[in-house]
Amino acid sequence: MVISHQMTAFEEVNLLFDRSSDRLNLSNGLREMLRRPWRELQVQVPVRMDDGHIEVFTGYRVQHNGARGPYKGGVRYHPAVDLEEVRALASLMTWKTALVNLPYGGAKGAVQVDPALLSQPELNRLTRRYTLNIEHLIAPNRDIPAPDMGTNSQTMAWMMDAYGQLHGYTPAIVTGKPVELGGSLGREAATGRGVGYLLMEAAQDLEIDPQGARIVIQGFGNVGSWAARLLHDSGCRIVAVSGVRGGVYNEKGLDIPALVDHYRETRSVPGFSGGENITNAELLELDCEVLVPAAIGNVITAENAPRIKAKVVLEGANHPTTPEGDDIMTDRGIKVLPDILVNSGGVIVSYFEWTQNLQQFHWEEDRVNEELRKTIVRAYHEVRDRAASEGLTYRQAAFDIGVQRVAQVIELRGFL
Ligand code: NAD
Repeated sequence: MVISHQMTAFEEVNLLFDRSSDRLNLSNGLREMLRRPWRELQVQVPVRMDDGHIEVFTGYRVQHNGARGPYKGGVRYHPAVDLEEVRALASLMTWKTALVNLPYGGAKGAVQVDPALLSQPELNRLTRRYTLNIEHLIAPNRDIPAPDMGTNSQTMAWMMDAYGQLHGYTPAIVTGKPVELGGSLGREAATGRGVGYLLMEAAQDLEIDPQGARIVIQGFGNVGSWAARLLHDSGCRIVAVSGVRGGVYNEKGLDIPALVDHYRETRSVPGFSGGENITNAELLELDCEVLVPAAIGNVITAENAPRIKAKVVLEGANHPTTPEGDDIMTDRGIKVLPDILVNSGGVIVSYFEWTQNLQQFHWEEDRVNEELRKTIVRAYHEVRDRAASEGLTYRQAAFDIGVQRVAQVIELRGFL
């Protein structure tokens, strides 16, 4: 496939959606309705900085589709985020929640900011102002934000508090909160844990031995570091990981607990004494069995896909692969488990957190993890079986299941 202009992330996700609509024979009107976000909000986020001056940031909340339930999606703080990327991420949430069969629609929020450059009090003020500016769009039965890149449980605590100042105690307004404020046990590790469960479940089908396989992980934030920790605990060999400043490589396997300590102290992966430094570009092209991109989008492209040596790619990040990169990997026989399946552990446990909040009841962590395992494994089996019976890639099968479920619900509701 040759693409003449640089597509935006949203156009790329819609290309996947359009191909799925063709296979599912959806009418033009329905496609149009499913392709475009139902509602978009752009807000100004003025913040008084610690030195007294005012900075004005741009924030977004995109509600892509609410047919299957309240909108659900994370909030990203990143300096390069724009409306097209938020639309793409919101759309992916629609197909993801449908694929893993949660009663949610898809949404995403963002603020164009580099959180590393702000103090904690500045981030608190920014989060409160952003929350107040989108407050009329969110509610426990309408739209429930969660953490994403650049945000964490502290961010969610501030959002919950800002919302609660207007509406009273409402823990179900956000997920990914600290456990002390009604967060779920197991939520912080959930996305990485889901990656681990999936690898163990799919290993035989993918013809890899998870214990012997060389695993490479890009990103050492929430998703990457938990995936590394849990896979390491299961006896797997993680040969390389990276953060924004680069990575480290050790063919014998990295000592992940020691690397976690190093990262906590230095906020950086390179410089770890238990491996040699490598760049992010080198990391993606390492000779390995399993590659887990778990950082940012668009890292596997037409440019580097011909040189990817992994046998299997597990997409921990959202949209790490461009459509051209995907086609090249498919032609080369690389099996790609797609983002909407692989990183669904986060939204699955967010759903458990929300139900616990609504019932004012707490689950034990074992129950959370076991329900997560069952949910993600069920979705994997559905994807695998559909891919096999219809001759599709895993990504095509995952999209078809998600899109079909949303289309069915629109018919059932009868609102067209
Ligand atoms: P995070 O902010 O905790 O960590 C991001 C990691 O990526 C950090 O290690 C950072 O150093 C690294 N990184 C940033 N820019 C990079 C670059 N240019 N090159 C290489 N590495 C870079 O974010 P996270 O929550 O772990 O999210 C990572 C990805 O997973 C995102 O695509 C996010 O949308 C997706 N995701 C996250 C969750 C979740 O529960 N947190 C759930 C589903 C999907």
